[in-house]
Amino acid sequence: MSIATMSQKPHHCSGCSASGKDSPHSHTPAITAPPKPQVREPDAEELEWLQQQSLALEDASPEEILTWAVEKYHPKLTMATAFGPEGCLILSMLAKIEPEVYIFNLDTGYQFQETLDLRDRMAAHYGMEIVLEQPELPVEQFEAANGGPMYQSEPDQCCFHRKIVVLRRVLAEYDAWFSGIRRDQSPYRANAPIVGWDKKFGLVKISPLANWTKERVWKRIVDEKVPYNPLHDQGYPSVGCQPCTRPVAAGEHERAGRWTGTAKTECGLHTAD
Ligand code: SF4
Repeated sequence: MSIATMSQKPHHCSGCSASGKDSPHSHTPAITAPPKPQVREPDAEELEWLQQQSLALEDASPEEILTWAVEKYHPKLTMATAFGPEGCLILSMLAKIEPEVYIFNLDTGYQFQETLDLRDRMAAHYGMEIVLEQPELPVEQFEAANGGPMYQSEPDQCCFHRKIVVLRRVLAEYDAWFSGIRRDQSPYRANAPIVGWDKKFGLVKISPLANWTKERVWKRIVDEKVPYNPLHDQGYPSVGCQPCTRPVAAGEHERAGRWTGTAKTECGLHTAD
């Protein structure tokens, strides 16, 4: 649903000055979608070069991939992390290779306290700065402008405003970014290259753990005592925002606890649309 359509949707709004605030009504939310930015498009030569680099790095270790990326792109290189196991492992490796890479978390205002605490622990443990990048409006104002929590009625729009807009703003300053995605996490991620062009955000995307399994990631985390989110020990294999994440039962897919009851499976950071 577009923002324009959404603005026509009747809703209850306790802070609204429209008549009949206790009955469903419509008004235009204060939240408007920023214009879609022009993103850089690579030429065929650059795309071919990226493909060659990706194939050449297919058998490389994550540390070798990180080193290649740092030599090629730092200081125009960044990393977004929600402190999942893969993000924590990459951070632990990056701390030894180039701790000055700009690391940030998309601080939606809906994260678990355990996740925010982990950010502090990771920063202290590895001596790295990890910036909380926040949306323009705090949660209270965002919800007041939209007649309540948008994650219940329009989770795609909520992710767009609380994550994608912020990510776009940060990535516009960089030439390449790291992601912690693995190919076996979801169908969207199955063909993720080690190095590729991110059409959505207009920069190079490097996924050092693309061909690793969950078991391999966790073995390294345990062997090297990398800090991780305690929620993983409480039935949450994948941790997103608190309202949109539930624990999973034995045998369920690792991302089954994200946006349960909706068709949504991704927040949009790693999809092409
Ligand atoms: Fe909103 Fe849920 Fe997306 Fe977080 S995960 S931004 S709460 S819809």
